[in-house]
This record gives sequence, C-alpha cells and structure tokens, in this order.
Amino acid sequence: MQSRIKSEFDAIVVGSGASGGWACKRLAEAGLKLALLEAGQPQSDQNFSEHKPEFELKYRNRAAEIVRKTRPVQSVFDVCNEYTQDWFANDLEEPYTTPKDQPFLWMGRLRLTGGRTNVWGRVSLRFSDWDLKAASHDGFGEDWPLNYKDLEPYYDLVEKYVGVTGMAEGLEHLPDGQFHPPMPLTCHETLVRNRVKEKLGRTVTLARSANITRPQNGRGACHYCGPCARGCVTHSYFNSAFTTVADAIKTGNCSLISNAMVHKILMDENTNRARGVLYVDRNTKQTREIYARVVILCAQTQESTRILFNSATKEHPNGIANTSGVLGHYLTAHVRSGGGDGELHRGGEAVRDQLDHRRLELVGVAELEPHRVADEARELQRDRVVEPEVLAQLRALLGRGLDPDHHVDRVADEAEQRERDQRHREHHHDGLQQAANDEGEHQV
Ligand SMILES: Cc1cc2nc3c(=O)[nH]c(=O)nc-3n(C[C@H](O)[C@H](O)[C@H](O)COP(=O)(O)OP(=O)(O)OC[C@H]3O[C@@H](n4cnc5c(N)ncnc54)[C@H](O)[C@@H]3O)c2cc1C
Ligand code: SF4
Repeated sequence: MQSRIKSEFDAIVVGSGASGGWACKRLAEAGLKLALLEAGQPQSDQNFSEHKPEFELKYRNRAAEIVRKTRPVQSVFDVCNEYTQDWFANDLEEPYTTPKDQPFLWMGRLRLTGGRTNVWGRVSLRFSDWDLKAASHDGFGEDWPLNYKDLEPYYDLVEKYVGVTGMAEGLEHLPDGQFHPPMPLTCHETLVRNRVKEKLGRTVTLARSANITRPQNGRGACHYCGPCARGCVTHSYFNSAFTTVADAIKTGNCSLISNAMVHKILMDENTNRARGVLYVDRNTKQTREIYARVVILCAQTQESTRILFNSATKEHPNGIANTSGVLGHYLTAHVRSGGGDGELHRGGEAVRDQLDHRRLELVGVAELEPHRVADEARELQRDRVVEPEVLAQLRALLGRGLDPDHHVDRVADEAEQRERDQRHREHHHDGLQQAANDEGEHQV
C-alpha cells in the first residue's frame, strides 16, 4: 500500500553520513525546513560499546562465523564484528550481483544515523595541489578545475568543527590544518621519526585524525581507550550522528525519518525537476512519497548511483543525471589497502620506558577498575610491546590482584633478552661482522 505525505519541506536529504550530516547542518542552520531520510536505525549513546569488555559478549567476540552468517561481506572489514554487526546492512536482506569476472566486495554499508562515520578510521588529510593538479605533474587523468587555495577556507571551516589532531609539518604535499594538540608519539614512534629524518630526510608524522584532544562544543577530549569504531560516549571522535546531524535537529528545522529506504526520486514532468522521493518504510514495508523543492542525495556513492538509475523516466530512460552516459562508471568505493610496516629490532630502552609508563597505568587501573585490565593488556599486545604468552601471564597476575610491578620488570628484561638474542643471530647470519661494530645503533 502506498501513502502520500504532503509536506512543507524545502529540501530532502537522503542519507545521514559524512556528507548528509553536513548538508543538514548547513541548511537547517540557514533556516531551511528539511526531511532527513535515513535507511538505517537511529543511533544513540546507549549503543556504544567501546568500554565493554569481550567477556560481556555472548560469544566473546570470538565467533566470526556467527557474524558471517548474515554479514558475509560486511564482516570482511573487521569493524563489523559481534559488537557492531547490527549497525551494518544485512547482506542477505540487501544482496547485489556483479558480473562473474568482476567480483566486488561491497563492504562498509552502514544502516544507522551517522552512516560510515560510526566506524571510520578518522584519518583526515587535506589534498594539495600535487593531488588537485596531478595531471600537470604526471600526465594522468585531468586537473581539477580548482586549486588548493580555493579549498583552504572550507578545509579550515570543517576541521575547526570536526576537530582533527595532528602535527604541523609545513609539507607542501600534505598541507597543515587547524589541528588540535597532537596525540603524543610513543617512544618507538619518536625513535623512528627521528631516525628517518636524520637518515632519509623524510617526515614521519602522526596520522591526522578526527579525534579531539581538548574539549569542544560539549564533546570531551579523547581519553585514548582505543576502539572508536564501537562508538564513543564522550563524543571525542567525529561521528555525524552526534555532531552535524544533532546540530541540525537542534535547530528544529530538520526532521529525521529513520528506517526510510529511498527507492527513487520523483520527477515533475512539466518542469523536469525533482519534486520529492519515494521510499519504503522498513518497519511497515509501506511505500511513501514525500515532497520538497530540492532533493540532495548523500546515500553513499553506489547507493546514490542506484537511486539515480531507479529514477529513470520515459524522458530519461537511462536514469536521471545521466546525459553523459557515465553514471555508474569510474566510481571509487574505498581505498582499503596500502601502507607498510616494519619491525624495530632494537630499542630495549624504549621498551622499558614504555613499560614503565604503562606500569603506572596498569597499577592504577588494576586498583580502580579491574575489568579494564584486560583492555589495557590487550593494548600492550596490540602495540607489540610484549609477546602474547608474557602478556597472558601478566593478565593472570593482574586478574588475581597481584602486584604487576615485579612482573613488568620481568617483561622488560625479557624484551632486552630478546633483543640480545636477535643481535646474536645477526652476528652469525651471513657473517655480519658489521653489526658488531654498530653496537648501539638502532636500525629503522
Ligand atoms: C571501516 C571504514 C574506515 C574508514 N576510514 C576512513 C578514514 O580513515 N578516512 C576517511 O577519510 N574516510 C574513511 N572511510 C570512508 C568514510 O567513512 C566515507 O568516505 C564517508 O563516510 C562517506 O560519506 P557518505 O555521506 O558518502 O556516506 P556514508 O557515511 O556511508 O552515509 C550514507 C548513509 O546513507 C544511508 N543510505 C544508504 N542508502 C540509502 C537509501 N537508499 N535511502 C536512505 N538512506 C540510505 C546509509 O544508511 C548511510 O547512513 C572509512 C570507511 C569505513 C567503512
Ligand atoms: S575517540 Fe578517544 S575516547 Fe572516544 S572511543 Fe576513540 S579512543 Fe576512546
């Protein structure tokens, strides 16, 4: 059954993620009446689980196959897990096909207010003229019709609101921004940064990340608990659900309609302009029409493209906004892989420094919040400061309320022993006599 909603909206925004959130904030604050249609459920602080330990989950976040049952594609991205699976599209309910010889993993399909900003990695880099004018530099593609100076004020505006931590480096290819104070580098990172600068003249810098390090607009400074992709009760990372969308709703000019899956744009045959959208209410399965003077599609690259194809009319049989015929071509979904890593063989002192620092935290945490100990221990492991088996012992000691002080010393000793062993192996491998002369040198 189809119902019609007569409405007085100036504009309809489809999708409440990174782009939809901004569209709503700017237009609602400018006084326009908006309907924000979001295919997913509402988001709230109650859904955030960044401080919830795995042992409180039914399957301890260990049963990936359970998540895979309904989200075989989404769970390829590890941010879709037992904590967050309900935030993602159910791959069985929202299937898609591709030509056999062109497989495509369509991951990162969020279904809740905030879209992908709920789980994004928060890396927030500015383009420079090396990107915008790349064709002039290397001959590939086309130059953009604007340059960095044109964009700079908009980057400033967005960054001031979003909150991005970073180190100003004065690099031409990675322009500095309106940074919050940088998160401190670890000892190892400082070592690498200094050594790379000294030996290669290159800059190793902190990822510019949309985490605030001082309070802003009612949001708390990041307390470095780590799993931002499970939400953040202090609102310290940028998520449009509790920033741009919340601001838009606060104006009283923006009505959020959740579980509203937009199917197509309705066109006015006389004016050849959009006059509204048709959507499916996911709860009732009813189709509904809603009208406005302007429709803004922010439903994610491929979803927005699909809506444009679905909106084909007899005047536009190949979908609307497709006079060029390139609709659906040349899209980028997500650049997912890249980067590099390495192992720092030496650095006993750095390890010890880090452990000393950690020890204070661990002792404090052990006294105050025993359930946080496992999280802290996991972080140590993730930072690769200690081996898993040593860590397991540490965790067991802490779990039993024993003083970790003595044990952390042992961990440092073991790290140094490993370093000595490694050095020993290097001496004997390929007759690397050189290594013996380089005592004290850190290799990067
Ligand atoms: C795991 C992960 C890590 C990432 N890390 C980074 C990073 O470090 N740095 C970076 O710059 N980017 C990163 N990204 C990408 C970034 O999140 C996206 O580029 C950005 O969120 C895109 O914004 P958007 O508004 O186009 O879409 P989204 O944020 O995805 O929002 C789209 C919204 O539209 C809704 N929607 C979809 N179809 C319909 C429909 N038919 N009707 C109504 N609503 C609909 C969806 O439910 C969703 O809420 C990451 C993404 C993921 C998944
Ligand atoms: S933004 Fe900071 S405080 Fe919030 S979840 Fe991420 S690490 Fe924790």
